Amino acid sequence: MSSRPDDDELDQRIETLLRAEHDGNPLRPALEALFDRYRTQQRLLDRLTRISDHFQQAERDRGLNYADRYQRKVRQIEKIVRISDRYQTMLRELNDRLHLISTRDELTGLPNRRYLLERLDTEISQVARNGGTFSVGLADIDHFKSVNDTRGHAAGDAVLAHTARCIQDSIRDYDVCARWGGEEFLILFPQCAEDDAFRLAERVRHVVEDQTRALGLSPAITLSIGVTEFQPGESLDATLKRADDALYRAKEAGRNRTVGSAPDGA
Ligand code: GH3
Ligand code: MG
Ligand code: MG
Repeated sequence: MSSRPDDDELDQRIETLLRAEHDGNPLRPALEALFDRYRTQQRLLDRLTRISDHFQQAERDRGLNYADRYQRKVRQIEKIVRISDRYQTMLRELNDRLHLISTRDELTGLPNRRYLLERLDTEISQVARNGGTFSVGLADIDHFKSVNDTRGHAAGDAVLAHTARCIQDSIRDYDVCARWGGEEFLILFPQCAEDDAFRLAERVRHVVEDQTRALGLSPAITLSIGVTEFQPGESLDATLKRADDALYRAKEAGRNRTVGSAPDGA
């Protein structure tokens, strides 16, 4: 602590009074003792002031330190939140992709058998709850083996994919066509009795034949289709078996046709 000019002046005056020339002065010892005490207190005060300054500076630094550390923690947490958000988005996308992969047929891009089996279960539950009905059409490409044999397997794949697109183009928005396996496709016609499904299946058959002919395929791709309507209370297997039997009869009858499961065949 630096002393003020007034204090310095007073100090000097007292020091002069304490010099030897005032030796005999009776007040001198008392003044000397008082001055000593004053000096000691002055030093103590200086020391206390220095300690206090030091303490205040340390507190200020500590405050800054806390603010710094707090900001750093906030930035770390923000970073973790960003990473976690990105991670969750990635997981969601991965999950969507996995779901798509597990329900799509890779070659044709159509829903796969697993997907349609689930849809059919849902359809059966809905019919049981709300009434109504639905039909299915099992379509099989005629003489597909000869496509592979004459043009090769890769060309066979391309024909399969093209046929799938033709079928997809020819059904209604709410119908569902899945690749059932090999060169077979199963079409679900929701809320549709067998005679309507029969007509829709015929449209599919004509579109496939016309479009593959237009593409230059010779002979054009033709389909045999077995159609049947779900009967309330029966199992899905029973419905599918009837469609398969109808398809078999379509093949037996010469292919390139639709056959229904009703006694008259339509
Ligand atoms: P049908 O009129 O009786 O149905 O005769 P088809 O030749 O179509 O029937 P078949 O069951 O004898 O032969 C089906 C062929 O389909 C045999 C198989 O190699 C071929 N196939 C099945 N899946 C694929 C595939 O993913 N790609 C290719 N290129 N061919 C396939
Ligand atoms: Mg087949
Ligand atoms: Mg076939």
